[in-house]
Amino acid sequence: MNLRIGNGYDLHKLVRDRPLILGGVTIPHEFGLLGHSDADALTHAIMDAMLGALSLGDIGHYFPPSDPKWQGADSLVLLHQVHELIKAQGWQINNIDSVLIAERPKLKPHIKAMRDKLATTLQVNPDQIGIKATTNEKLGHLGREEGIAAYTVVLLSR
Ligand code: MG
Repeated sequence: MNLRIGNGYDLHKLVRDRPLILGGVTIPHEFGLLGHSDADALTHAIMDAMLGALSLGDIGHYFPPSDPKWQGADSLVLLHQVHELIKAQGWQINNIDSVLIAERPKLKPHIKAMRDKLATTLQVNPDQIGIKATTNEKLGHLGREEGIAAYTVVLLSR
């Protein structure tokens, strides 16, 4: 069996008057993530990890922020497209493991919904998608609630 590993990172700024969407799930909060698309940092990190595993570049190459087509885009739709790209080369997802870093809100109650949404989009079992949430212990920009970051590792097999 052929294996490829990829990692992804993303961060978006927290601002007022934007929805907070992570893993395709809208989370009630007084701030949301700023970005050209829906700014779903978790889904973006997962896409970059999938592309990175196959040395296919990054999401900015496929969905440039300069293209008005991606304005407000649902990142799960973009994730589906990245998945199609890797499937076309004969690869499948073995597992995904992610860490979300957010001081607030508490993300734990929403993790199951994120795993279910991502698993449905990627046609895998939710147990192939790990998501953990942690704070930054009030340190630095994440600790000051200026943004939310996501790290992801994905293992692909063929
Ligand atoms: Mg992003």
